[in-house]
Amino acid sequence: MSNISCAKYVWMNGKTIEWEKAHVHVSSSAVLYGAGVFEGIKAYKSSNGRGLYLFRLEDHVKRLFGSAKVHRMDVPFSTKAIEEAIIKLIEDNGFTDDTYVRPLIYPGDFFELMGGKAPIDVTIFAVPYSSQDHSQKVEKGIKCCVSSWRRISDSSLPARVKTCGNYVNSRLAKSEARMSGFDDAILLTKEGFVSEGSGANLFLVRNNALVTPDVSFDILEGITRASIIAIADDLGYAVRERGVVRSELYTADEVFLCGTVAELLPVVSIDNIAVGDGKPGNLTKNLQNHFFQIARGKSSKHKDWLRAIHEE
Ligand code: PMP
Repeated sequence: MSNISCAKYVWMNGKTIEWEKAHVHVSSSAVLYGAGVFEGIKAYKSSNGRGLYLFRLEDHVKRLFGSAKVHRMDVPFSTKAIEEAIIKLIEDNGFTDDTYVRPLIYPGDFFELMGGKAPIDVTIFAVPYSSQDHSQKVEKGIKCCVSSWRRISDSSLPARVKTCGNYVNSRLAKSEARMSGFDDAILLTKEGFVSEGSGANLFLVRNNALVTPDVSFDILEGITRASIIAIADDLGYAVRERGVVRSELYTADEVFLCGTVAELLPVVSIDNIAVGDGKPGNLTKNLQNHFFQIARGKSSKHKDWLRAIHEE
Protein backbone atom coordinates (compact mmCIF):
# COMPACT_ATOMS: atom_id res chain seq x y z
CA MET A 1 0.00 0.00 0.00
CA SER A 2 1.18 3.48 -0.82
CA ASN A 3 1.96 5.51 2.25
CA ILE A 4 1.71 8.85 0.52
CA SER A 5 -0.65 10.99 2.54
CA CYS A 6 -2.21 14.05 0.97
CA ALA A 7 -3.88 15.14 4.17
CA LYS A 8 -3.40 14.64 7.90
CA TYR A 9 -6.92 13.59 8.78
CA VAL A 10 -9.88 11.64 7.47
CA TRP A 11 -13.38 11.71 8.98
CA MET A 12 -14.70 8.19 9.53
CA ASN A 13 -18.03 7.34 11.18
CA GLY A 14 -18.06 10.47 13.31
CA LYS A 15 -14.39 10.39 14.31
CA THR A 16 -11.40 12.30 13.02
CA ILE A 17 -8.60 9.81 12.40
CA GLU A 18 -5.17 9.91 10.81
CA TRP A 19 -5.02 9.50 7.02
CA GLU A 20 -2.92 6.32 7.32
CA LYS A 21 -5.56 4.65 9.51
CA ALA A 22 -8.55 5.12 7.17
CA HIS A 23 -9.01 1.50 6.07
CA VAL A 24 -11.86 -0.45 4.50
CA HIS A 25 -12.00 -4.21 4.99
CA VAL A 26 -11.37 -6.30 1.87
CA SER A 27 -14.66 -8.18 2.46
CA SER A 28 -16.74 -4.98 2.13
CA SER A 29 -19.15 -4.92 -0.82
CA ALA A 30 -17.63 -1.56 -1.64
CA VAL A 31 -14.36 -3.34 -2.45
CA LEU A 32 -15.91 -6.51 -3.88
CA TYR A 33 -18.58 -4.91 -6.09
CA GLY A 34 -18.07 -1.14 -6.06
CA ALA A 35 -21.26 -0.95 -3.99
CA GLY A 36 -20.62 2.40 -2.39
CA VAL A 37 -21.94 5.85 -3.25
CA PHE A 38 -19.97 9.05 -3.20
CA GLU A 39 -19.73 12.72 -4.01
CA GLY A 40 -17.02 15.02 -5.29
CA ILE A 41 -17.21 18.54 -3.87
CA LYS A 42 -14.91 21.47 -4.48
CA ALA A 43 -13.93 24.26 -2.11
CA TYR A 44 -12.62 27.34 -3.89
CA LYS A 45 -10.25 29.88 -2.42
CA SER A 46 -12.08 33.19 -2.27
CA SER A 47 -11.00 35.91 -4.68
CA ASN A 48 -9.85 38.11 -1.76
CA GLY A 49 -7.66 35.20 -0.56
CA ARG A 50 -9.11 35.19 2.96
CA GLY A 51 -11.34 32.13 2.97
CA LEU A 52 -12.69 29.08 1.18
CA TYR A 53 -16.11 28.56 -0.34
CA LEU A 54 -17.61 25.10 -0.59
CA PHE A 55 -19.52 25.07 -3.87
CA ARG A 56 -23.17 23.96 -3.52
CA LEU A 57 -22.46 21.85 -0.45
CA GLU A 58 -26.14 21.21 0.42
CA ASP A 59 -26.90 20.08 -3.15
CA HIS A 60 -24.01 17.61 -3.16
CA VAL A 61 -24.95 16.17 0.23
CA LYS A 62 -28.57 15.90 -0.87
CA ARG A 63 -27.50 13.99 -4.00
CA LEU A 64 -25.27 11.75 -1.86
CA PHE A 65 -28.21 10.79 0.34
CA GLY A 66 -30.36 10.27 -2.76
CA SER A 67 -27.77 7.82 -4.11
CA ALA A 68 -27.69 5.98 -0.76
CA LYS A 69 -31.49 5.76 -0.79
CA VAL A 70 -31.57 3.98 -4.16
CA HIS A 71 -29.15 1.40 -2.70
CA ARG A 72 -31.36 1.06 0.39
CA MET A 73 -28.52 2.17 2.64
CA ASP A 74 -29.68 3.65 5.95
CA VAL A 75 -27.20 6.42 6.60
CA PRO A 76 -26.49 6.73 10.34
CA PHE A 77 -25.99 10.53 10.08
CA SER A 78 -28.17 13.46 9.05
CA THR A 79 -27.39 15.58 5.99
CA LYS A 80 -26.61 18.47 8.35
CA ALA A 81 -24.12 16.31 10.30
CA ILE A 82 -22.32 15.40 7.06
CA GLU A 83 -22.18 19.05 5.97
CA GLU A 84 -20.68 20.00 9.34
CA ALA A 85 -18.24 17.07 9.17
CA ILE A 86 -16.99 18.25 5.76
CA ILE A 87 -16.36 21.76 7.09
CA LYS A 88 -14.64 20.41 10.22
CA LEU A 89 -12.42 18.11 8.14
CA ILE A 90 -11.18 20.99 5.98
CA GLU A 91 -10.52 23.05 9.12
CA ASP A 92 -8.79 20.16 10.94
CA ASN A 93 -6.50 19.64 7.94
CA GLY A 94 -5.72 23.34 7.85
CA PHE A 95 -6.49 23.67 4.13
CA THR A 96 -6.57 27.27 2.96
CA ASP A 97 -6.38 26.76 -0.79
CA ASP A 98 -8.58 25.00 -3.38
CA THR A 99 -9.66 21.64 -1.97
CA TYR A 100 -11.45 18.55 -3.27
CA VAL A 101 -13.73 16.70 -0.85
CA ARG A 102 -14.94 13.13 -1.27
CA PRO A 103 -17.61 11.72 1.04
CA LEU A 104 -18.33 7.98 0.68
CA ILE A 105 -21.13 5.81 2.02
CA TYR A 106 -20.69 2.02 1.83
CA PRO A 107 -21.44 -1.31 3.49
CA GLY A 108 -18.52 -1.58 5.87
CA ASP A 109 -17.84 -5.27 6.43
CA PHE A 110 -18.42 -8.88 5.49
CA PHE A 111 -22.05 -9.28 6.68
CA GLU A 112 -23.40 -8.53 3.22
CA LEU A 113 -21.24 -11.27 1.76
CA MET A 114 -22.91 -13.68 4.21
CA GLY A 115 -26.40 -12.59 3.13
CA GLY A 116 -26.91 -10.21 6.05
CA LYS A 117 -27.21 -6.47 6.30
CA ALA A 118 -23.86 -4.79 6.76
CA PRO A 119 -23.56 -1.66 8.87
CA ILE A 120 -23.30 1.43 6.71
CA ASP A 121 -20.06 3.35 7.06
CA VAL A 122 -19.49 6.97 6.15
CA THR A 123 -16.03 8.30 5.39
CA ILE A 124 -14.95 11.71 4.15
CA PHE A 125 -11.54 12.62 2.86
CA ALA A 126 -10.28 15.88 1.43
CA VAL A 127 -7.14 16.76 -0.50
CA PRO A 128 -5.58 20.00 -1.72
CA TYR A 129 -6.57 20.48 -5.34
CA SER A 130 -4.88 22.58 -7.93
CA SER A 131 -3.42 21.47 -11.22
CA GLN A 132 -1.41 23.46 -13.74
CA ASP A 133 -2.24 20.89 -16.40
CA HIS A 134 -5.97 21.26 -15.73
CA SER A 135 -5.83 25.08 -15.74
CA GLN A 136 -4.20 24.92 -19.16
CA LYS A 137 -6.96 22.67 -20.43
CA VAL A 138 -9.60 25.06 -19.07
CA GLU A 139 -7.93 27.81 -21.09
CA LYS A 140 -6.92 25.99 -24.26
CA GLY A 141 -9.52 23.23 -24.45
CA ILE A 142 -9.34 19.46 -24.84
CA LYS A 143 -9.54 16.88 -27.63
CA CYS A 144 -12.25 14.24 -27.30
CA CYS A 145 -13.35 11.13 -29.15
CA VAL A 146 -16.66 9.34 -29.23
CA SER A 147 -16.08 6.22 -27.18
CA SER A 148 -16.55 2.71 -28.49
CA TRP A 149 -17.98 1.98 -25.00
CA ARG A 150 -21.65 2.88 -24.42
CA ARG A 151 -22.93 4.70 -21.31
CA ILE A 152 -24.43 2.47 -18.62
CA SER A 153 -28.20 2.60 -18.84
CA ASP A 154 -30.79 3.58 -16.24
CA SER A 155 -32.37 0.14 -16.54
CA SER A 156 -29.22 -1.64 -15.31
CA LEU A 157 -26.88 0.75 -13.47
CA PRO A 158 -28.43 4.21 -13.21
CA ALA A 159 -25.99 6.99 -14.06
CA ARG A 160 -28.00 9.51 -12.01
CA VAL A 161 -27.01 7.53 -8.90
CA LYS A 162 -23.38 8.21 -8.05
CA THR A 163 -22.40 4.60 -7.39
CA CYS A 164 -18.67 3.82 -7.13
CA GLY A 165 -19.05 0.94 -9.63
CA ASN A 166 -20.45 3.28 -12.31
CA TYR A 167 -16.98 4.63 -12.72
CA VAL A 168 -15.69 1.37 -14.17
CA ASN A 169 -17.66 2.40 -17.28
CA SER A 170 -16.07 5.87 -17.18
CA ARG A 171 -12.62 4.36 -16.66
CA LEU A 172 -12.91 2.04 -19.66
CA ALA A 173 -13.92 4.96 -21.87
CA LYS A 174 -11.30 7.36 -20.54
CA SER A 175 -8.41 4.90 -20.73
CA GLU A 176 -9.33 3.96 -24.31
CA ALA A 177 -9.47 7.67 -25.23
CA ARG A 178 -6.11 8.41 -23.58
CA MET A 179 -4.43 5.43 -25.25
CA SER A 180 -5.61 6.79 -28.60
CA GLY A 181 -4.17 10.25 -27.94
CA PHE A 182 -7.35 12.07 -26.85
CA ASP A 183 -7.88 13.84 -23.53
CA ASP A 184 -11.31 12.40 -22.83
CA ALA A 185 -14.22 10.40 -24.20
CA ILE A 186 -17.82 11.29 -25.01
CA LEU A 187 -20.16 8.37 -24.39
CA LEU A 188 -23.33 7.57 -26.31
CA THR A 189 -26.33 5.84 -24.78
CA LYS A 190 -26.95 2.28 -25.88
CA GLU A 191 -29.53 3.71 -28.34
CA GLY A 192 -26.83 5.93 -29.86
CA PHE A 193 -27.74 9.35 -28.44
CA VAL A 194 -25.11 11.61 -26.90
CA SER A 195 -24.97 11.14 -23.13
CA GLU A 196 -21.98 12.79 -21.41
CA GLY A 197 -18.22 12.75 -20.88
CA SER A 198 -16.48 10.12 -18.73
CA GLY A 199 -16.84 12.35 -15.66
CA ALA A 200 -18.61 15.48 -16.82
CA ASN A 201 -21.81 16.67 -18.51
CA LEU A 202 -21.81 17.95 -22.06
CA PHE A 203 -23.20 21.10 -23.68
CA LEU A 204 -23.28 22.19 -27.33
CA VAL A 205 -23.65 25.72 -28.58
CA ARG A 206 -25.77 26.12 -31.71
CA ASN A 207 -26.64 29.57 -33.03
CA ASN A 208 -25.87 31.23 -29.69
CA ALA A 209 -28.15 28.86 -27.73
CA LEU A 210 -27.13 25.99 -25.45
CA VAL A 211 -28.21 22.40 -25.94
CA THR A 212 -27.61 19.59 -23.45
CA PRO A 213 -28.89 16.00 -23.20
CA ASP A 214 -31.86 15.86 -20.84
CA VAL A 215 -32.01 13.54 -17.83
CA SER A 216 -33.46 10.65 -19.82
CA PHE A 217 -30.14 10.18 -21.67
CA ASP A 218 -28.34 8.28 -18.90
CA ILE A 219 -26.51 11.28 -17.49
CA LEU A 220 -25.49 12.10 -13.98
CA GLU A 221 -27.64 15.09 -13.12
CA GLY A 222 -24.65 17.31 -12.60
CA ILE A 223 -24.63 20.15 -10.10
CA THR A 224 -22.28 22.13 -12.35
CA ARG A 225 -24.69 21.43 -15.23
CA ALA A 226 -27.54 22.92 -13.19
CA SER A 227 -25.31 25.89 -12.32
CA ILE A 228 -24.43 26.48 -15.99
CA ILE A 229 -28.13 26.39 -16.92
CA ALA A 230 -28.82 29.03 -14.23
CA ILE A 231 -25.86 31.21 -15.32
CA ALA A 232 -26.91 30.92 -18.99
CA ASP A 233 -30.35 32.07 -17.95
CA ASP A 234 -28.85 35.08 -16.10
CA LEU A 235 -26.94 35.98 -19.26
CA GLY A 236 -29.99 35.62 -21.50
CA TYR A 237 -28.88 32.53 -23.44
CA ALA A 238 -31.59 30.01 -24.33
CA VAL A 239 -30.97 26.46 -23.01
CA ARG A 240 -32.62 23.41 -24.53
CA GLU A 241 -32.53 20.06 -22.74
CA ARG A 242 -33.21 17.40 -25.36
CA GLY A 243 -31.86 14.39 -27.21
CA VAL A 244 -28.60 15.10 -29.05
CA VAL A 245 -27.41 12.97 -31.97
CA ARG A 246 -23.77 12.23 -32.72
CA SER A 247 -23.53 14.28 -35.91
CA GLU A 248 -24.52 17.41 -33.96
CA LEU A 249 -21.22 17.10 -32.10
CA TYR A 250 -19.28 17.62 -35.34
CA THR A 251 -21.35 20.55 -36.57
CA ALA A 252 -21.80 22.47 -33.29
CA ASP A 253 -20.38 25.99 -33.01
CA GLU A 254 -18.94 25.16 -29.56
CA VAL A 255 -18.88 22.15 -27.23
CA PHE A 256 -17.86 22.03 -23.58
CA LEU A 257 -17.81 19.59 -20.68
CA CYS A 258 -18.66 20.63 -17.14
CA GLY A 259 -18.37 19.08 -13.70
CA THR A 260 -16.88 19.58 -10.26
CA VAL A 261 -13.40 18.49 -11.36
CA ALA A 262 -13.78 19.38 -15.06
CA GLU A 263 -15.14 22.83 -14.12
CA LEU A 264 -15.82 24.15 -17.63
CA LEU A 265 -13.64 22.53 -20.28
CA PRO A 266 -13.91 23.69 -23.88
CA VAL A 267 -13.81 20.77 -26.34
CA VAL A 268 -11.85 21.93 -29.39
CA SER A 269 -12.02 18.75 -31.46
CA ILE A 270 -14.03 15.54 -31.55
CA ASP A 271 -12.70 12.50 -33.40
CA ASN A 272 -10.07 14.87 -34.86
CA ILE A 273 -12.77 17.09 -36.39
CA ALA A 274 -12.43 20.71 -35.24
CA VAL A 275 -15.30 22.05 -33.19
CA GLY A 276 -16.10 25.47 -34.71
CA ASP A 277 -12.75 27.02 -35.57
CA GLY A 278 -10.89 24.63 -33.25
CA LYS A 279 -10.50 27.16 -30.42
CA PRO A 280 -12.53 27.72 -27.24
CA GLY A 281 -15.63 29.68 -28.26
CA ASN A 282 -16.82 33.04 -26.92
CA LEU A 283 -19.98 31.76 -25.29
CA THR A 284 -18.02 29.05 -23.47
CA LYS A 285 -15.45 31.62 -22.29
CA ASN A 286 -18.20 33.94 -21.09
CA LEU A 287 -19.80 31.13 -19.06
CA GLN A 288 -16.38 30.11 -17.66
CA ASN A 289 -15.73 33.66 -16.55
CA HIS A 290 -19.06 33.96 -14.73
CA PHE A 291 -18.76 30.48 -13.22
CA PHE A 292 -15.34 31.18 -11.66
CA GLN A 293 -16.40 34.60 -10.42
CA ILE A 294 -19.37 33.04 -8.64
CA ALA A 295 -17.34 30.08 -7.27
CA ARG A 296 -14.70 32.41 -5.80
CA GLY A 297 -17.29 34.77 -4.31
CA LYS A 298 -16.42 37.65 -6.64
CA SER A 299 -19.89 37.95 -8.14
CA SER A 300 -22.98 39.25 -6.40
CA LYS A 301 -24.98 36.44 -8.03
CA HIS A 302 -25.87 33.07 -6.50
CA LYS A 303 -24.26 33.76 -3.12
CA ASP A 304 -26.52 31.01 -1.77
CA TRP A 305 -24.39 28.45 -3.67
CA LEU A 306 -21.41 29.15 -1.42
CA ARG A 307 -20.73 27.94 2.14
CA ALA A 308 -17.91 29.97 3.64
CA ILE A 309 -15.11 28.38 5.68
CA HIS A 310 -12.55 30.47 7.64
CA GLU A 311 -15.06 33.33 7.32
CA GLU A 312 -13.34 36.64 6.67
N1 PMP B 1 -21.19 13.09 -15.13
C1 PMP B 1 -20.39 12.23 -14.50
C2 PMP B 1 -20.33 10.83 -14.99
C3 PMP B 1 -19.61 12.65 -13.42
O1 PMP B 1 -18.81 11.79 -12.79
C4 PMP B 1 -19.66 13.99 -13.01
C5 PMP B 1 -18.80 14.46 -11.87
N2 PMP B 1 -19.41 14.28 -10.64
C6 PMP B 1 -20.53 14.87 -13.69
C7 PMP B 1 -21.28 14.38 -14.76
C8 PMP B 1 -20.69 16.29 -13.26
O2 PMP B 1 -21.39 16.35 -12.05
P1 PMP B 1 -21.13 17.51 -11.01
O3 PMP B 1 -21.22 18.77 -11.76
O4 PMP B 1 -22.22 17.36 -10.02
O5 PMP B 1 -19.77 17.30 -10.45
